[in-house]
Amino acid sequence: MIRIILGVDDSTSGQDIQNLLQRMSYDVLTVSIHEVTERADELQPDIILMDVRLDGEKDGIEVAQRTNSRYDIPIIFITANADEATVRRAITAEPDGILIKPLDALELTATIEMAMHRHGARARARESDRRIRELTDALPEIIFETDANGILTFISAAISTRYGWTVGEIEGKANMLDFIAPFDRERARETVRKRIQGEDRGWAEYAFILKDGSIAPFDVRTMPIIRDGVYEGLRGIAIDISERKHAQAALIGSERRIREITDALPVVVYETDITGRITFVNATAFDLFGYAKEEIEAGVSLFQLIAPADRKRARAVFRRRMSEEDVGRVEYIGLRKDKSSFPISIRAVTMKRDGVVIGQRGVVIDFSELSEAQQELRQHATMFNAAHDAIMTLDPAGTITYWNRGAERLYGWTTQEAEGQNANALLRTWFPESREVLWPKLMESGLWEGELTHITRDGVDVTVASSWTLMKDEKGNPSAILEISSDITERKKAELALAESEATLRTTFATMADGIMITELDEKVTDCNAAILRLTQRSREEILGKPFKDLLAPEFRSVIADARKVLVGSVLAITVPGSEKKRTIRADSQLLRKNGERVDIEANISLVEDSAGQPAAFLIVARDVTERKQMECKLDSSLADLRRSNAELQQFAYVTSHDLQEPLRMITSYIQIIEEDYKGKLDADADQYIAFAVEGAKRMHTLIHDLLAYSRVGTRGEPFMPISLNRVLSAATTNLEIAIEEGQAVVTRDRLPTVLGDESQLIQLFQNLLGNSIKFRSDATPRIHVGVEKTKDEWVFSVRDNGIGIDMKYAERIFAVFQRLHAREEYPGTGIGLAVVKKIVERHGGRVWVESEPANGSTFYFTLPKGE
Ligand code: ADP
Repeated sequence: MIRIILGVDDSTSGQDIQNLLQRMSYDVLTVSIHEVTERADELQPDIILMDVRLDGEKDGIEVAQRTNSRYDIPIIFITANADEATVRRAITAEPDGILIKPLDALELTATIEMAMHRHGARARARESDRRIRELTDALPEIIFETDANGILTFISAAISTRYGWTVGEIEGKANMLDFIAPFDRERARETVRKRIQGEDRGWAEYAFILKDGSIAPFDVRTMPIIRDGVYEGLRGIAIDISERKHAQAALIGSERRIREITDALPVVVYETDITGRITFVNATAFDLFGYAKEEIEAGVSLFQLIAPADRKRARAVFRRRMSEEDVGRVEYIGLRKDKSSFPISIRAVTMKRDGVVIGQRGVVIDFSELSEAQQELRQHATMFNAAHDAIMTLDPAGTITYWNRGAERLYGWTTQEAEGQNANALLRTWFPESREVLWPKLMESGLWEGELTHITRDGVDVTVASSWTLMKDEKGNPSAILEISSDITERKKAELALAESEATLRTTFATMADGIMITELDEKVTDCNAAILRLTQRSREEILGKPFKDLLAPEFRSVIADARKVLVGSVLAITVPGSEKKRTIRADSQLLRKNGERVDIEANISLVEDSAGQPAAFLIVARDVTERKQMECKLDSSLADLRRSNAELQQFAYVTSHDLQEPLRMITSYIQIIEEDYKGKLDADADQYIAFAVEGAKRMHTLIHDLLAYSRVGTRGEPFMPISLNRVLSAATTNLEIAIEEGQAVVTRDRLPTVLGDESQLIQLFQNLLGNSIKFRSDATPRIHVGVEKTKDEWVFSVRDNGIGIDMKYAERIFAVFQRLHAREEYPGTGIGLAVVKKIVERHGGRVWVESEPANGSTFYFTLPKGE
């Protein structure tokens, strides 16, 4: 018979239910719900029915919960409230069934039977779970399951028995990846991805981080949990292979001999497996740590050589090194076998085999030999790394014992390179004073400050402001030097450049031939150079402090005041847009010497502004222009002389040619009479001579005529009037009509401008040029073009022909009087035509020249001023 305990909180409703149950022949004991637990202990019923009140009063559910968790007995709740919220609340107590009042006999039986059956099934499942757990817990391997996110949902007890975690702190909380060392995580993720895709990769080795931070190698194999095609997580096994690996690592490397060499080193050299257990160490380890080599290699971990206080840090560093991070040299407190401690530093790198990290190889240095002062410095020095300055410490022999980042930056040597080197040798230090001077100073005062020059690793000079502090031990002997230096190279360079430019300026000032003075705004001289003393023939004392105007001849005394008005005025006017800042005024003036002598000077007066742009001083440069003035005078008088003699010459030429005409005419007349009267009456020779004389007289006539025309250009010119050159050219061609016709010449022209000039002379000018172009024609039909071009301030005319051309070596000569290039028989002429052209052009203020090539025609150019 099924035994039931019925817990009620109200005896009236309890009675009804009890009756109902008894009618269905259950063995029922009705108790108050507060007594349920107690009675259940004693009666061990098959099922408990609890009348739980759910309308706001919590008690019912709490009791139910307590009872439920305590007994492995099915529980059914009976309640009068049937709203969804209360039912849901009741379910949280995990009853095996819920009945809602009023109760129906059939429903009651069904619910009781169902609850008992379900409860039994659940108990069996729990039992099998327990068995699995017991089984896995007995294994030394770690068995685990994760959900899809890698969160561990199940882990076997090995995690607590062997590795110190509790199952509770891991299940449902920790992620599987958290246990894998960072350097292996990516690989682990990749493996998981592959697994999910159904690829079986067998066993894989990973480094696990254990609870104390140490690393251990594990072989891991996982398989995915897939339900209804959905990936739900992983199930796997992880086996600690530290021992196996350690044995392997110890075997690796048969470079015994190399290792033996390391025994001779004064430092400890070691190799570890990935857990930090030492697989190899050199014999020096015995000297340092007191362990025999074999003793260490039998399984001592690197961390055992480090004091407990530093171990956690050491493990962290070890892990970082495993991820190939360059941790540099790290200092610890070392622990000897006899438990005494001493300062050490360790530097290590990873060892790899076939690309897989199998451990680390490192070096341990004993620091205890460093003096205490140095150790203290060394500790401070860590802080110094943050400093911008170069900071180093030296032992009394000058060996670098510490080198901060600032020093690395400034000198280019890394800490590893610098430490242990002699500082002066490494930096090729140049001291401003000898060691014999510097050293006693440092010894006595404990401090030295000064500028040093060093040479960086790249061979660049750096100047530093350096301060040296001497550290002493308790006996007062020097134990270390702290050297702090800041780079002042740029500052030094700037200072040097400034000093140099100042010196240059000074020298220039002193040696300049011009007198230079600096005055205040009220003209008081504040500085002057030697040249001014020479110019004024006064002493420096007679000049300095006195107004500049006192040095000037009376009529020039306002020079500075005048200049000041312009200069200062312009400084103030600087804000007015468009006004240009005038900086220097030039004025002619005269210095007055003490003896009353006057010296002509050209004064250049400049306003010197201060840094705020305010007028501050005048700079006066006085140049002795006596000689220039004298030269100018001389030049003027010789120019006048020249003009006079030119005029005289012209007059002479005119007069002679004019006066020669009369006697020549007489000679010509008489010779012509002789020719007419005596031709054929004397002998043949006489006839010929007479003919020569006539010819000579005619030629002389032409020459004199031409010369007269030439000299008339200067003496008989007409005043200038606006003349149309188109008309002028027409007149010239009319005059040349016969020659043009005869030579069948073609004359073309540009439109010519109107200029100021002497019309008849301009006609003559064109006539001579056109005449030559026709006269010196080649076999071809003469083509002559008169062109014009306008430049900025003049007209450039050209007369171009296609005649015989001129060798350019005669280009100058042909413009001189009587100069010609041909025999009279070849081309008639006197050689005066171009001389006249030149004279006319020059009288009009222009120039004339020729460009030509023999046989290729000539172009004669001349310019005339544009004239407004
Ligand atoms: P003339 O024409 O009386 O010889 P010019 O003074 O006019 O004297 O010319 C001087 C010389 O310049 C000429 O003898 C001639 O050799 C050369 N000449 C002048 N014009 C031309 C020209 N258009 N082509 C070639 N040669 C020329």
